Amino acid sequence: MTYTTPVPITDGHFYAGSSLELRDLTMAYGEIEVLREVSLEVEPGTTTCIIGPSGSGKSTLLRGVNRLHEPKSGDVLLAGESVLTQKPDAVRKRIGLVFQHFNLFPDHTALENVALAVRHVKGLSKAESRRIAEARLEEVGLAERADHRPRDLSGGQQQRVAIARALAMEPEVMLFDEATSALDPELVKGVLNLMAQLAQRGMTMLVVTHEMGFARKVADQVVFMDEGRVVEAGAPADLFEHPKSPRLQRFLSEVL
Ligand code: ADP
Ligand code: MG
Repeated sequence: MTYTTPVPITDGHFYAGSSLELRDLTMAYGEIEVLREVSLEVEPGTTTCIIGPSGSGKSTLLRGVNRLHEPKSGDVLLAGESVLTQKPDAVRKRIGLVFQHFNLFPDHTALENVALAVRHVKGLSKAESRRIAEARLEEVGLAERADHRPRDLSGGQQQRVAIARALAMEPEVMLFDEATSALDPELVKGVLNLMAQLAQRGMTMLVVTHEMGFARKVADQVVFMDEGRVVEAGAPADLFEHPKSPRLQRFLSEVL
């Protein structure tokens, strides 16, 4: 696959991303610690991909960043400020999250799905919300599908609507949790291309993915996690071609 053919850029828009830093982030469900002292830095306008086996704590890490689950200890800094002292809603306005399942309202059109979210979160007028929704749908290559309901869109198109919805909040950072895992294979590329385009436009992104080709080509930094810890992190070429730890060597031999 190639990730160098972005969907058309219609408005020449570039993002102004913020830095994201995790400091010794430790998270638990009840007594069970599933993330242990994870530290990582995402520079503004760069993309970090997190890879690792199922159950290694990748989703939990994103939930901690977005304040969907409170960390046990450690800190998360957005643009240098701790998110833990801010209201969860305020943090979620600044950090967009795209899941495997897109959770669109089935009875609303693509445009309404984006516009309703903008209205709800930003408290803008109906007309202004629609204007923003139209622009964001155009940005993800779905201007012509704006009036379609989710059931009349492919899974890939639905995921692009979900990405447009997240972008409409003008987030400083975007988190992706296996955004293409639920898609039919032929629809994966369109979504990955869109994500690559966001990266090229300077969005700060933290991407949990099983798509090693994407991590390899798009990431500025790749982080390998296992059993709740960062085992190895570095530039994609180093990590994929010269894995140091036996655990990463084994993981790559299984997935590549
Ligand atoms: P990954 O995304 O890398 O597959 P997760 O962050 O989902 O890993 O899970 C890390 C660990 O936490 C796993 O052992 C998982 O079973 C456990 N876990 C995840 N969510 C919960 C939860 N809501 N309650 C209890 N344990 C959980
Ligand atoms: Mg997960």
